[in-house]
Amino acid sequence: MTSLGPSLKAGDGPKKFELPFNKDNLCKKLFINNEYVESKNAKKLELRNPKDGSLVADDVALAGEADVDAAVAAAEAAFPAWRKVSPTARRDMMYRLADLIEENGEAFAAMTRLTLGAPFGSFGSFEINLCAEGFRYYGAWVDKFSGETYPQDDGFLKIVRNEPLGVTAGIIPWNGPMGNVGMKAGPALATGNCFILKPSEKTPFSALALGALIREAGFPPGVFQVLSGDGGTGALIASHMRVRKVSFTGSTATGRRIQEMAARSNLKRVTLELGGKSPAVVFDDCNLENAVSWCANAITANTGQVCFAASRVYVQEGVYDKFVAAYKKLMEDKAAVVGDPEAESTVLGPLVDKAQFDRVRGFLERGRSQGSLLVGGGTIGDKGYFVQPTVFENVAEDAEICKDEIFGPVAVLNKFKTEEEIIAKANDSNFGLMAGVFTQDINRAMRLSAEIDSGMVGVNCVSLCFLQAPFGGSKESGVGRENGMAALKMFTEPKTVMVNLTY
Ligand code: NAD
Ligand code: MN
Repeated sequence: MTSLGPSLKAGDGPKKFELPFNKDNLCKKLFINNEYVESKNAKKLELRNPKDGSLVADDVALAGEADVDAAVAAAEAAFPAWRKVSPTARRDMMYRLADLIEENGEAFAAMTRLTLGAPFGSFGSFEINLCAEGFRYYGAWVDKFSGETYPQDDGFLKIVRNEPLGVTAGIIPWNGPMGNVGMKAGPALATGNCFILKPSEKTPFSALALGALIREAGFPPGVFQVLSGDGGTGALIASHMRVRKVSFTGSTATGRRIQEMAARSNLKRVTLELGGKSPAVVFDDCNLENAVSWCANAITANTGQVCFAASRVYVQEGVYDKFVAAYKKLMEDKAAVVGDPEAESTVLGPLVDKAQFDRVRGFLERGRSQGSLLVGGGTIGDKGYFVQPTVFENVAEDAEICKDEIFGPVAVLNKFKTEEEIIAKANDSNFGLMAGVFTQDINRAMRLSAEIDSGMVGVNCVSLCFLQAPFGGSKESGVGRENGMAALKMFTEPKTVMVNLTY
């Protein structure tokens, strides 16, 4: 060892690690304090495969109060040492975890696919990559997220430190069961917090299997734990007196309850990533092919089960007929690639479960009296939860299908005349997550980017996000932001240190 620290010997590279779980050997236990343990709760989760409704498992741990308490206690015990781990060591654990996730990517995607139904090529691989890249992106921030200092001319030096919050948690949805992990655990761990992951009751298997990699990557016991469970488990976490922060992604209704539970308990910090009814606005002067393809992809990716899907499409009158013809054709093409998520030719899988299928079917049926059906409108096959990519045209602004988040491959399409009119319509929503503006006029694009009330605006693109830049919504689409430096701020508390220089 030199003063510069240990040097690598030849052949010291990380050894290949074999994930002990796969789709035929699912992990059903909680991961607490770096050990897999049975839940102390007798109740279990039941999971079905959405491609045919068949039973996948009915014996998956459902964390109850004693389990949540055990995880919180382990996290509290781990926190003092974890926050003092050197930045390079913490970074290296995050990088190692990213590599391990990537190496086992296909196994993770297969475990997720069993109960989500997302094909590997179109969505499964994308969200595994997002997960691994989340740990890399935030691993790289560990030694770069600096504090602040302010002028000392008045005799006082002011230093602002970014302090970790302590025990933090992520309550995540089923539509991106792994992608969400990188986006939440990444910034939490990078800033020295302990993190408890609560996956959705509809997609627990990848998250539970992650425990083996957490341990292998070198995270100390209690730093990163996984509690499978349902909404009740989430509520125990959100109302826990010793959890300091919850980062939530899911429905607006649940987000509201989490904010309430946080307020009623210990005023824990809350980040909410909720629903949307995002508009795509297509102007006469756009590149039509580009606009049509973004709009069709936006509402069909992951079978429309994406919070920032552009589900309201507004097209200016001059290009309307041409747009409709091309859009209808593309949506019909999408219907042709709906099918078994295990088949390589499949692009769109089923909806996640019977509840979501019934919900979307309800919108499809009621939609027929709220607009005219341009394409789709029905279900596919006689087993599983498959629906046709669907577009309703000429829908009144106050119709249910124009107001409510459907969370399926269902868009509403309307014509507009003027910029003023469309800004008002785009903003006439309780949501404000994403918007898209399709035009070749840079001034108009910039005007709309300023005028539309949403957390994100795409110009000549829509329904996309990047780890580097804030992700989240205005109005009832959320509170706070994920991704970028914004997420690091959401997982830290600024502490102002004032130094008297004249003493
Ligand atoms: P949900 O909001 O009920 O569930 C999301 C997560 O919150 C899950 O982990 C769940 O266990 C947990 N949860 C549920 N109730 C809770 C409670 N009272 N306290 C704490 N945690 C709780 O969403 P869902 O039931 O899976 O889906 C319903 C609708 O939500 C969908 O149709 C869709 O509109 C919307 N949704 C949005 C997103 C998104 O990315 N914004 C993701 C999933 C679902
Ligand atoms: Mn729910």
